[in-house]
Amino acid sequence: MDTLTTSTVSDDEVVELGVSDTGLEITDWTDEARGFSDFDNHERILRVTDEKSGLRAFIGLHNRTLGPALGGCRMWPYETEREAVTDVLRLSRGMTLKSAMAGVPAGGGKSVIMGDPRTDKTEALFRAFGRAVDRLGGGYISGEDVGVSVQDMDWAAMETPHMLGSGERGGDPSPTTAYGVFVGLKAAVRHRLRRGSLDGVVVAVQGLGHVGMSLCQLLRREGAELVVSDIDDAAVERAESEFDATTIAPQDVYDVDAEVLAPCALGAVINDETVPRLRVAVVAGAANNQLLADRHGEMLKQHRILYAPDYVINAGGLIALSLNLTPDGYTAERALSLTSRIGDTLAEIFSRADAEDRPTNEVADKIALERVRNMAPGA
Ligand code: NAD
Repeated sequence: MDTLTTSTVSDDEVVELGVSDTGLEITDWTDEARGFSDFDNHERILRVTDEKSGLRAFIGLHNRTLGPALGGCRMWPYETEREAVTDVLRLSRGMTLKSAMAGVPAGGGKSVIMGDPRTDKTEALFRAFGRAVDRLGGGYISGEDVGVSVQDMDWAAMETPHMLGSGERGGDPSPTTAYGVFVGLKAAVRHRLRRGSLDGVVVAVQGLGHVGMSLCQLLRREGAELVVSDIDDAAVERAESEFDATTIAPQDVYDVDAEVLAPCALGAVINDETVPRLRVAVVAGAANNQLLADRHGEMLKQHRILYAPDYVINAGGLIALSLNLTPDGYTAERALSLTSRIGDTLAEIFSRADAEDRPTNEVADKIALERVRNMAPGA
């Protein structure tokens, strides 16, 4: 893994560690996390607990050379703290690269809440999370990720101004993310299949949540044929009736004979077991950390499958949310216009990867990391 050596964390940074009057505790967990293979010179890992609400969370601050760490909050029923820390490390590094590539003046950070989003959500829990973010003094700005809704962000925003994606600050960024994936998927189809339209192109969409469902709508409007899978029966039924989609069982999505696989569920789906099964020409979807390891980008290349690097194609939501931090603020038009550039960015990465005979994920990492290094103090 190519890595950043520059840590911009300053000694006088105001992070209120310890236990507050309300019982909210923030512990510096950086030294414990150093032993993880995904550590990658993170600036800081913080463990957050709140006795009263039952909050147990980790906040990862990867690199803040380009600005405050910006990245959403995921709620997931992690079985162990080790699993949660691994996820936050991988996700927050991805945000450093995503902002650098999208030209957003922000660093990389992310948070994960341990819990089941279907049963464990309360106002108290998200307000405690909001208080934790507030105690980082603006060094971390949060928003939605998997399992977290606008309502949850509204609760968290009652405790801190450093929260995006609440009803008052941008709302759900998923439609913009889906639009960016749509534009990027078209660029990939154009590059690999030399087809300027999606008419009749078969796309297998894995995951029909906030992004996946919006993506299906955009694809169908351009004439793509959809094969869909989700573990939620209601979601696949909706896609069948609204988009004339064909449903496939979740475990069979890697065997579909299609032009494109669009992973829009969770990460690590491109791995030793799945790549040999793939019968697609392109992998282009919204999920973060689609490659289990960097080397799976090379493996896709060997199988002649064009991979749209995840943090490049799924940056639309970040672009939308970050507009709330600019003097002109967020408008849907500005968000969509900036997001539409994802197609050109990807086309450039694909061409460079061809010219250098290298995997697309390696080329993207090199560009993004160079941007961060060039901005480092003393560079
Ligand atoms: P979501 O929680 O709304 O949707 C995820 C969907 O995947 C759900 O419908 C779930 O049932 C389904 N799913 C889970 N496991 C599955 C499996 N094994 N097979 C098939 N379906 C499965 O999440 P989302 O907001 O739509 O995000 C989807 C992905 O895109 C995530 O990886 C997220 O990190 C990434 N992403 C989202 C945004 C955004 O703006 N929402 C931005 C960037 C990246």
